[in-house]
Amino acid sequence: MDSFKDLNDKVDAQEMREAELTANILDQEKLISAYKLAEERGAVLAAIVNSSDDAIISKDLDSIVTSWNLSAERIFGYTAEEMIGESILKLIPVDRVEEEPQILLRLGRRERIDHFQTKRITKYGVLIDVSLTISPVLNDSGNIIGVSKIARDITSVKISEERSAILSAIIASTDDAIISKDLNSIITSWNPSAAHIFGYTAEEMIGESILMLIPEDRKEEEALILGKLLSGDRVDHFETKRVTKSGKLIDVSLTISPVLDKAGHIIGLSKIARDITYKKQEEQRKNDFIAIISHELKTPLTSMKSYVQLALIKARDQADSFSEKVLVRAEAQTQKMITMIHDFLNLSRLEEGKMSLSRSKFSLSEFMEDVISESLILAPAHILNFSNCGELELFADKDKLAQVMTNLLSNAVKYSALGSEINIFCVINQDTVELGVADQGVGISQEDQQYLFERFYRVKNEQLPHVSGFGIGLYLVAEILKLHGSKIHLKSEIGKGSVFSFTLAI
Ligand code: ADP
Repeated sequence: MDSFKDLNDKVDAQEMREAELTANILDQEKLISAYKLAEERGAVLAAIVNSSDDAIISKDLDSIVTSWNLSAERIFGYTAEEMIGESILKLIPVDRVEEEPQILLRLGRRERIDHFQTKRITKYGVLIDVSLTISPVLNDSGNIIGVSKIARDITSVKISEERSAILSAIIASTDDAIISKDLNSIITSWNPSAAHIFGYTAEEMIGESILMLIPEDRKEEEALILGKLLSGDRVDHFETKRVTKSGKLIDVSLTISPVLDKAGHIIGLSKIARDITYKKQEEQRKNDFIAIISHELKTPLTSMKSYVQLALIKARDQADSFSEKVLVRAEAQTQKMITMIHDFLNLSRLEEGKMSLSRSKFSLSEFMEDVISESLILAPAHILNFSNCGELELFADKDKLAQVMTNLLSNAVKYSALGSEINIFCVINQDTVELGVADQGVGISQEDQQYLFERFYRVKNEQLPHVSGFGIGLYLVAEILKLHGSKIHLKSEIGKGSVFSFTLAI
């Protein structure tokens, strides 16, 4: 029989076994839940790794890739099957292979490697810019057993960084003022040339209104420019005046473009202002020079014309046909020169904004008589037809209208064959009179007709290389008529001829 002690010992041993068993079961449950937790964490981590936009790669100490996520495939082109088990050196350009051992050395020193910018090469041989963040993979005893790498493709960031560096360099080095402002005309950027041209520093101007630069009498320009840009128009080489810090008025040429957000809405304006004060002064000097020369030439030429006309009368009286022929030509050439001189004088007046009308009352028939006698001088070798339009009193600038008619007529002579007809007409309507010149000359194409009245525009006509001119006659015609509240009309057909006409209010 067991003693009481033996019995007690048996019970204790039994209890211990039961306790051990319970502890074992508890340990196993702990282990299972720890596994579960680890599994869940692992699944979460795998999901993060695969949904990341960055390439997440791990490798062992021999640089052999051990894991490769979806973005690594997207960025480098290789699939996980192609890369796992392969050396990471496949991605490293030849001139950067020394980076790999250096990275391992740094990791060994427990250094962090964050946002290390370098270049890698894709499956397709394309060099891309990447930013690498590299961490060591440690075992339980804290030894490095591998490396995990996060690589971000920063090629587009690099490209836009390079582009904006180029743009900044251009903006900083250009001679033009480059200014940007918001829709309330508040300046948001100001380059060194803006400081040089306008005298204000960037600190003084950023946050201020652009109106500070606009002279009092031009303040409304700002709203007009904005309105133009909002309606989709460009503002190119708009010549105006601006005022500097020292109060000096300068001539500027402005090119203004909208600044758009990604959705295409205008969020501001950028302005390039070129200081054209010197150019304007040069133009002024040139205009003054032309005006002086033309004025000086006008008087002797007018006397020359009178002497030629006197000699012509004498030649006709003496029936000296040779002298008459020569003098008729001399008279036509002198008249041509006088017309040219008048054009130059009017052009320089117009450029300076000094062309004004000196209106007076005169009779239409007297005016037409003057036109006819000029025409006879200018077109001795054409058949001239004049329409008799009747009597009427006009109130206009007689000399300038005569210049209009002379210019139209001299063009008709220049651009039509000798011996062809030129009609100088005049038609009285109810409350207007229409005047004009029609020829049977070379005609003008539809395309050229659009530009004909622009300053210095000449048609490129290979058939007429010998016809000289400056391209200012029709420009002046249009401007003189504009001052009279009228407009030049043109009907023309290539090879058939042209009709230039205008109407004046009676
Ligand atoms: P210019 O005759 O000095 O060149 P204009 O301003 O008077 O300058 O004329 C501009 C251009 O228009 C001319 O170069 C010419 O080609 C064209 N033109 C003008 N008048 C006529 C015309 N009657 N017939 C054909 N072409 C003409």
